[in-house]
Amino acid sequence: MMPLDIDTLRLDFPILAHTVNGQPLVYLDNAATTQKPRAVLDALNHYYQSQNANVHRAAHALSGQATQAFEAARAKVARFINALDDRQVIWTRGTTEAINLVAYSFGMHSLKANDEILLSTMEHHANIVPWQQVAAATGAIIKVIPLATDAELDMEAAAALFSTRTKLLAVSHISNALGAINPIKQLIAMAKAVGAVTLIDGAQAVGHFPVDVQALDCDFYVFSGHKMFGPTGIGVLYGKRELLEAMPPWQTGGEMIKKVSFEQTSFGELPFKFEAGTPNIAGAIGLGAGIDYLSGLDRAAIAKHEQALMAQLLAGLNAMPEVRIIGRPQAGAVSFVINEVHPQDVATLLDMQGIAVRTGHHCAMPLMQALDLPQGTIRASIAFYNSADDITALLAGLDKAREFF
Ligand code: PMP
Repeated sequence: MMPLDIDTLRLDFPILAHTVNGQPLVYLDNAATTQKPRAVLDALNHYYQSQNANVHRAAHALSGQATQAFEAARAKVARFINALDDRQVIWTRGTTEAINLVAYSFGMHSLKANDEILLSTMEHHANIVPWQQVAAATGAIIKVIPLATDAELDMEAAAALFSTRTKLLAVSHISNALGAINPIKQLIAMAKAVGAVTLIDGAQAVGHFPVDVQALDCDFYVFSGHKMFGPTGIGVLYGKRELLEAMPPWQTGGEMIKKVSFEQTSFGELPFKFEAGTPNIAGAIGLGAGIDYLSGLDRAAIAKHEQALMAQLLAGLNAMPEVRIIGRPQAGAVSFVINEVHPQDVATLLDMQGIAVRTGHHCAMPLMQALDLPQGTIRASIAFYNSADDITALLAGLDKAREFF
C-alpha cells in the first residue's frame, strides 16, 4: 500500500500541471468529472496500440486478448463493489444509461397503474426523468421524499411515504448538488419492509469511499467511470441476479443474442443480454485501470485527506459573512451562494484565476426550486488529488470576488 503523499500523487495526473488563463489549474469540479491518472491514459493507449479488436468474436489472437482484458475489467468492477458474481456487472455508457436500462426494462414491464415510485427531492435529473417516462407509460405515480431543515432528507416524511403501493425506491447515495450523504441503508431497509425494489445512484459515492453492494443489500447500484478517475462513456449497472434474469432486454441487436432467425430470437445470458452492439471496450479497460490505481491507494487515508479538505473549505466559507453554505455538505461537494451575486459571475472571476468550479442547478432543478435558489449555487467539489493549497486558492479567489461585487 502506497503512503498518501499528495504532491507525489498529483504527478500521476498530467493535467494538474497545466495552467489555465495563465494561472496554475485549481481543479474543483470533480463532481462533474474527475481527472485521469496516467495509468488510465496508458491503458487506453495500450489497448488501441496493441490489442484493438472486437470482443467475444475470438477467431483470432487479438480478439482473444481484447476479450480477456475487457472481461478482466468487469471482474475488477465486481470486486470493487463486492458483487457476488461478475455477471451482475452490466456495462453501460454511464449512470444515466444504467438508470434508463432499469427504467425501460424493469420499470416499463413491472410497474402498473397506481404503483408508486419513490424518489427524493435531491435527485439528479438522470434519476427523475426516466421514471417520469415510466409513470407516463404505465400509470405509476411518482412520490418524492421532501427536505427537512438543513436540506437533509426528511426521514419521518419518508417513513410515512412508504406503503405496499411503493414498488420502487430510487435515491442518490451522495447528492451531487449538496454533498450530502443520504441515509440509504435506512431507506433500503424501509423499502424492503414493504417489498419495494431499490436503486441507488452511486455516481458521486464510488470515487470517495468503498461501496459494498452486498452489505447495502440494494437491488440496483449505478455509477459512471468518468467520476471515479476512469474514461467517459463507460458506466456500470449492478443488479441482483434474480432481478436481472427476470428483466427483458432493453436494447437489442448483435452481441446480446443466442440465436436469431426471421421468425424469432433467443437472447444471450447475463450480462450479454443487456449489452447490445459493440461495447466501449477501451472505456471498460480504462475503468479497470482506474480501479487498479484506486485500489493501490490507502482509501482510509484518502477519505481522511478529503475530510480535512472539506473541513478547511467549510471553515473558510463560514468565516465569510456574505457566504451561505447550502445544507450540510459531508462528502465531495460544497454548494454555496454569495449574497445576491449571480453564481456565474463568481465562477467567471474564479476561472480568470485558473480555478474551476461549477455553477447553476447542477442537473437538480427540483432541488433548487425546493431551496428557493432560482440561480442555483456555486459548487466546489474535491477529489483526493486536491491539496490544501487548492482550497486556499479558492478561498483567496472568493475573497477577491467578495471585494469585486
Ligand atoms: N447522478 C448523479 C448523482 C450525478 O452526479 C450524475 C452526474 N452529474 C449523474 C447521475 C449522471 O451521470 P452521467 O452524466 O455520467 O450519466
